[in-house]
Amino acid sequence: MELARRVTTITPSTTLAITAMANELLAEGHDVIGLAAGEPDFNTPEHIIEAAMTAVKNGETKYTPSGGLPALKQAIIEKLKKDQHLDYSLSNIIVTTGAKHALYLLFQACLNPGDEVIIPAPYWVSYPEQVKLAGGMPVIVDTCQENHFKVTVDQLQKALTDKTKAIIINSPSNPTGMIYTKEELRDIGDFCLENGLVIVSDEIYEKLVYEGTEYASIAQCSKAIKKQTVIINGVSKSHSMTGWRIGYAAGDEGLIKAMTNLASHSTSNPASASQHAAIAAYEGTQKPVEEMRLAFQDRLNYAYERLINIPGLTCVKPQGAFYLFANAKKAADMTGFNDVSSWLSALLSEEKVALVPGKGFGAKDYIRLSYATSLENLKEALDRINQFMEKHL
Ligand code: PLP
Repeated sequence: MELARRVTTITPSTTLAITAMANELLAEGHDVIGLAAGEPDFNTPEHIIEAAMTAVKNGETKYTPSGGLPALKQAIIEKLKKDQHLDYSLSNIIVTTGAKHALYLLFQACLNPGDEVIIPAPYWVSYPEQVKLAGGMPVIVDTCQENHFKVTVDQLQKALTDKTKAIIINSPSNPTGMIYTKEELRDIGDFCLENGLVIVSDEIYEKLVYEGTEYASIAQCSKAIKKQTVIINGVSKSHSMTGWRIGYAAGDEGLIKAMTNLASHSTSNPASASQHAAIAAYEGTQKPVEEMRLAFQDRLNYAYERLINIPGLTCVKPQGAFYLFANAKKAADMTGFNDVSSWLSALLSEEKVALVPGKGFGAKDYIRLSYATSLENLKEALDRINQFMEKHL
């Protein structure tokens, strides 16, 4: 069947190839260690599960308003007030089927054909594809390890054209784990204000910040910057709720209304039970969130120290999220592989360790290691990577 041009321009996920290979090995009975996960390995906290079960038993099984239950929007408003000291009204919030769909609706609602969106690389894989699906043009701006993968105003100035409509800031970042300081965000925010750009602030890893690093949302930098910003967030990573599919966007009333109209014709509403679970996530105890954060911090410290001692790998210590993003070009060269992707494939077939190639994040010389797994798994995986290097050196 002939497919629409729209879908033929979409790049398939590069993580799929390695995941497919890992699954094949698993099916053959091999002991594969997967360090490719994009989700916390903890179960959803008990009180959240209980709240969803109670809601379902009480008959909360029907359609909800397209933009989400008012009680959940209110819980999100309180969260934004408490955590970021930001004031929003119900009309500034839409609850979506995961943060991913909030981003999807946002690009659909604000881009016209040919509008450009500046995306600093390395980037989360879905940004360029979602921009393209909305008829927009992703403009990739490469950042460098020396500058901790943060985009500068100078770089933005060079990328700016009369078609630039928006910029995406993802802090803490997937895949690099870097966090922008408030000063850096203010400079970027002022630049966006001067040039009338929409600021898309993807804050999905906001709760996973380590070793006393200060986290700020760009919307906190000034009232004017807040007006230009659309915050994207949700419960997937903070409350280990990836499968429940609840995210949200907070921003300009007109834009949120347009996104809600689009949602009403696509998903109708996020699952009602999940919305009740999310109310409990935001209104209940935040103790499990902190416990998970501390566990991630221990794993980061362990895995980082091990990783930087592997010959040929260099890595800036992440401040947030749950990934290590390491340059593996030298490791591939030293061991006689043509590129990092073939080095990774060999690591998987010989040592049964699955990592994600940086190619899909716009950084082909890099690898992403997710530490959303147990310390035992991390130890074993890092032992095997060392063994692999020793074998090939
Ligand atoms: N933004 C980033 C940077 C992510 O890494 C992810 C998930 O991997 C998302 C958004 C989407 O999250 P959700 O599960 O809420 O759709």
